[in-house]
Amino acid sequence: MALSGIQIYKLLPQTNCKECGFPTCLAFAMKLAAKQVELAACPYVSDESQAQLAESSAPPIRLVTLKSGEHEAKAGNEVVLFRHEKTFYNKPGLFIRVKASDGAEAISKKVTEADAYKVNYVGMDFTVDGFAVVADGDAASAVKAVRSASKRPIILIGEDASVLDPALAVLEGETALIAAAAESNWETMADLAVRHKAALVVKADNLDTLAEMTVKIKEKGVENLVLDPGGAGMSKTLANSVQLRRLALKNVRELGYPVISYPCKADKPAQEAILAAQAIAKYSGFIVLETFDPAMIYPLLVLRENIYTDPQKPIQVQPGIYEINSPQPDSPVLVTTNFSITYFSVANEVEGSGKPAWLLVTDADGMSVLTAWAAGKFDAERIAKATKEFNLTDKVSKLVIVLPGHVAVLSGELEEELPNWDVKVGPREAVDIPAYLKQAI
Ligand code: SF4
Repeated sequence: MALSGIQIYKLLPQTNCKECGFPTCLAFAMKLAAKQVELAACPYVSDESQAQLAESSAPPIRLVTLKSGEHEAKAGNEVVLFRHEKTFYNKPGLFIRVKASDGAEAISKKVTEADAYKVNYVGMDFTVDGFAVVADGDAASAVKAVRSASKRPIILIGEDASVLDPALAVLEGETALIAAAAESNWETMADLAVRHKAALVVKADNLDTLAEMTVKIKEKGVENLVLDPGGAGMSKTLANSVQLRRLALKNVRELGYPVISYPCKADKPAQEAILAAQAIAKYSGFIVLETFDPAMIYPLLVLRENIYTDPQKPIQVQPGIYEINSPQPDSPVLVTTNFSITYFSVANEVEGSGKPAWLLVTDADGMSVLTAWAAGKFDAERIAKATKEFNLTDKVSKLVIVLPGHVAVLSGELEEELPNWDVKVGPREAVDIPAYLKQAI
């Protein structure tokens, strides 16, 4: 049962040593009760207290990991309802569905194409996470066809244990997800999951039944459970997901598991994309899609990245001097900050212009230009320091440096900091950089 902040405080050393980063043990206890810190942050908790606090400090949603060789798809460990309260941790896995009845050739074709898909977004490579196989035919052959084209984790969808059993045997040594155990078959499915060390989806039409079933299945020895609260359409699936997250955060342990959703059941790809976007936002751990189309997958992956980025830690690139279009010593130096989206906006525009340039990326704690300037993280002194730190004068001879137009106000100070340089003010928006480079320099 969850402990209150005061109950947790009584189990802490009460020395107020501040090593956990909080001014008092009580402040730490309150944060622990709100699941906003880890117990491990206090190095002085006794073993006895640790045992008592373990359950209380455990994440309200169990971490379930599907594994296949070097590939993993993790869901769970979430501790908040809204990402701005802390962060969301494990991005929901996107699984592309294939059907055994389609035959090995069609399965292999679809899986090969989806498996090869890789797209770069602000320096990160995105891919799909795995494949879901519907056991509506020879499931073992279908799984072999998937495995011949991809090594990513597999969700096996079916309700007949005798059909799923040989397919799971193909996945020996992996952690697959079986979908699903319902009221009518939960005992055989639980046995199947234990035998193959698989995770198991528990499916019911209402949350009371779902909670009863997770308790019974856990008693059979299956710890890694995933919930399918049923429902179809946007409003029902949204209501179920939100209610499950709220109950899990209130420490209803029977429902403290990740959720699976099936946008693949939509009639049209457009509806499927909308359902998938909703599932990413609220609060699926595994998402099964029918359609593999880069035009649909890419925005879903970007949406997922944006929602699962820690709002307190912007995505950053390494500060340094970047070469674009093979710059020469007389090429200009453009300055920007190390916020990923800023960097890639500027770098892409310079690259697209075809003009060679050096891009000096300063350490601004991952903030965009205006935010960093307002926070005192992007000023003339820092820019001048960066030119020295990255030995810019070893690379350039013309000494032309271009400030972002939004911080034109820094030009006078930068001229004082860099007296040998010609300080210019570039455009305010990255999209105007190509025209600027073609005309002004
Ligand atoms: S590290 Fe532990 S003992 Fe020290 S203030 Fe934090 S909770 Fe208290």
